[in-house]
Amino acid sequence: MLDNDPDHDRPEAIAPLILATPSAYALFVDFDGTLADIAPSPEQVKVEPGLPQDIIRLQGLLGGAVAVVTGRRISEVNRHLAPAQLPGSGLHGLEFRSAPFGAEETTGHAEQIGIGLPPALFDAVVALTRAMTGVRLENKGPILSIHYRQAPEFASELGIKLARLLNEQSFGFHVKQGRAVFELIPNGTSKGTALAEIMRHAPFAGRRPIMIGDDLADEEAFAVARAADGWGLTVRGEHFHAGDESFGSASEVRRWLSALAGVAATSDGQTAAATESGI
Ligand SMILES: [Mg+2]
Repeated sequence: MLDNDPDHDRPEAIAPLILATPSAYALFVDFDGTLADIAPSPEQVKVEPGLPQDIIRLQGLLGGAVAVVTGRRISEVNRHLAPAQLPGSGLHGLEFRSAPFGAEETTGHAEQIGIGLPPALFDAVVALTRAMTGVRLENKGPILSIHYRQAPEFASELGIKLARLLNEQSFGFHVKQGRAVFELIPNGTSKGTALAEIMRHAPFAGRRPIMIGDDLADEEAFAVARAADGWGLTVRGEHFHAGDESFGSASEVRRWLSALAGVAATSDGQTAAATESGI
């Protein structure tokens, strides 16, 4: 971290600021590797039992200014977090959900979600990975995830071939490497554009954003948060591992959130937040 302030990006320094003036802050969280531990496959992810209740308390403390920014679909994340429900953005900025308990999801790029992945691109990736035993494709509609957690020996070959494929033909997609996954994402959308869009709306607008994430894709959201006088808090894993991460693990993130939520529950945070949002 090229920053002279030793407290920069330190969760223990940020928590007292949030608790002193909760209405000045907005919290943005990635899901996999940040709220939940990484599992062998996305379907096997488990949420710790106390987390949904802590999220509900944090929503009370921050007047609803808690959002998820994820590469998954938002509905999938909320199914894991139930009974907590978060607004935010899914599919790397392709999908938005504005109200925590709203039934409808809205999208910023409906035409891309509707069309999905170009069939020629999908077919090319299927052909390219056919001989790579253990490599799994996850079709998220407009995004294709290529997981290699079960076959890490193919990581570099896969990365080179995917980059070549997208360079040779103009599909309008780019490849982003995550933790044991490559994702093919439509150009022009990212977790950075997602965070910027959410920040335009109440109750997030005008607050200092705090984005927590563990992966390369989160870096674009960190940049947007920092540019808005906020923070990008990193979580240690395959991507951040230089020793100066803000959190050592997803369980450290959960402990920090739980401590904030615990203070909220024992103070009049719930009442203050309800008054502020006009409920
Ligand atoms: Mg993640």
